[in-house]
Amino acid sequence: MTEEFTTTVYYDEDANSAAIEDETVAVLGYGSQGHAHARNLYESGVDVVVGLREGSPSREAAEDAGLNVATPDDAAAAADVVSVLVPDTVQPAVFEAIEDELDEGDTLQFAHGFNIHYNQIEPPEHVDVTMVAPKSPGHLVRRNYEQNQGTPGLVAVYQDVSGEAKEEALAYAEGIGCTRAGVIETTFREEVETDLFGEQAVLCGGVTSLVKHGYETLVDAGYSPEMAYFECLNELKLIVDLMYEGGLGEMWDSVSDTAEYGGLVKGDDIVDDHAREKMEETLEEVQTGEFAREWIAENQAGRPSYTQLRRAEKDHEIEDVGARLRDLFAWAEEESESESGREQVKADD
Ligand code: NAD
Ligand code: MG
Repeated sequence: MTEEFTTTVYYDEDANSAAIEDETVAVLGYGSQGHAHARNLYESGVDVVVGLREGSPSREAAEDAGLNVATPDDAAAAADVVSVLVPDTVQPAVFEAIEDELDEGDTLQFAHGFNIHYNQIEPPEHVDVTMVAPKSPGHLVRRNYEQNQGTPGLVAVYQDVSGEAKEEALAYAEGIGCTRAGVIETTFREEVETDLFGEQAVLCGGVTSLVKHGYETLVDAGYSPEMAYFECLNELKLIVDLMYEGGLGEMWDSVSDTAEYGGLVKGDDIVDDHAREKMEETLEEVQTGEFAREWIAENQAGRPSYTQLRRAEKDHEIEDVGARLRDLFAWAEEESESESGREQVKADD
């Protein structure tokens, strides 16, 4: 446990695997997170049953992995811990179907707090409610575990009836490999609000808008779409990799002085106080639940705006240019790999 930060971070030595050893965990859903949690827990020696609908296309994959599969309500009935890993928009309906199977002292476990925080799922008073949320897509949670590495994650307790909710959540986090890397203690509210804000303002929303505006500015000024694509989208990965490795400082150290000076002068001028005010509005809509209400209503209406927005994004010129360039370069890379392969054979001769 590390407390040199303002938050507490837990590691393997803080987790007591005995807290989950004799329990049965029902993993509802076998998608990105579900397959990783189920397989990692199973290989950590936990009794796992995967809950999937009759006829679910995932049933075969789960069975092929050697896992027990049952319907969601049968799985929940057999379990002490019910891990809800179906899509967030589907969770309220799945919860309704399994609610009666939750016994005194059972645990409802989540990987994201949306439905609890915004009251779309109202858990019974006699169960623990916890969250173990890997900060990574499921395929990496699985791959890291297989390679004896960890995936950083979050842990939170919303409701502690047994008095052992946190201990059990940490044991779950250990079972999926998260305490190998470190698990930060948080609350459902903090996890949900920072997650939604981050994906809207910076990660998914902010960065795609920045890329599109940059691309359009160059193309409208007469530069070639290919150059605009490389400059505004492709190179973003190199910059982000440096920031990921060593923070903003490593990125600034690695680019030229001209890039550093120009970036420092122009960055805050472009993403300016107006953008900051918009971020604050975005955060407020997350905090008040306005965004959640909008998203829930959008789903209830059959996703009309979502469908339209998705289509417009797909139709943006940068997507077509990018697809063609990536194909071209993938082809060129294969070609040069096979050429160096030929050289290798010659050298060996
Ligand atoms: P997903 O969309 O990958 O998979 C969901 C699975 O649920 C499907 O594979 C299927 O097995 C099942 N399912 C789908 N529709 C269903 C229905 N109508 N009824 C019953 N079962 C159905 O979901 P995911 O991305 O793994 O998300 C699960 C949870 O994990 C969510 O709470 C999400 O916020 C959270 N989470 C996801 C990620 C991520 O990177 N994907 C990261 C952290 C947390
Ligand atoms: Mg997220």
